[in-house]
Amino acid sequence: MSADARVPESSSTGIQELFRQIGVLREGHFLLTSGLHSPVYWEKFRVLQHPNHTGSLCAMIASRFRALKPAVVVGPTTGGIIVAFETARQLGVRGIFAEKEGNSRVLRRDFAISPGERVLVVDDVLTTGKSVVETLDAVRSVGGDVVGIGVLVDRSESPPSLGAELFSCLRAPAVTYTPDRCPLCARGVPLVKPGSS
Ligand SMILES: [Zn+2]
Repeated sequence: MSADARVPESSSTGIQELFRQIGVLREGHFLLTSGLHSPVYWEKFRVLQHPNHTGSLCAMIASRFRALKPAVVVGPTTGGIIVAFETARQLGVRGIFAEKEGNSRVLRRDFAISPGERVLVVDDVLTTGKSVVETLDAVRSVGGDVVGIGVLVDRSESPPSLGAELFSCLRAPAVTYTPDRCPLCARGVPLVKPGSS
């Protein structure tokens, strides 16, 4: 991690506080796209719009995997493009992205991974792991050797099996409730649908 980085390494409290300050981590009573309710909502583009903060977090991922010598960094659209680009920039390697195609992801735009090439897969927020798994499939289907997976935030309750080491800058398991069991509904806290304002 470089000396000018703003996020102290191994300080999940520091990262959480940064996310709160810049509005990534909102607290209240939110309706998620899944239909579940949550006391917190993560607006990831609130951090991805800041190159300095994104750079500090990607530095943690880069330093974790630098010794494994990845030759290319791959992320899923949309936020993963930024994380892949910045992590690749810091490692001095290529940064590419995997795009949706039906229920899977593919490498388009003449992006190529050679058989046996060492690949680092990255994303912004891991919740179910679906985007990361689709990206891993796209990489492995062309013979890429996945040396690790790095995400800014791991929100999974228990990390899914990915077949490579998963590193997260911050681990913050999601808290969700079905509407009938939601304590915030019970207290009459107004429900907010993020992104609708
Ligand atoms: Zn509720």
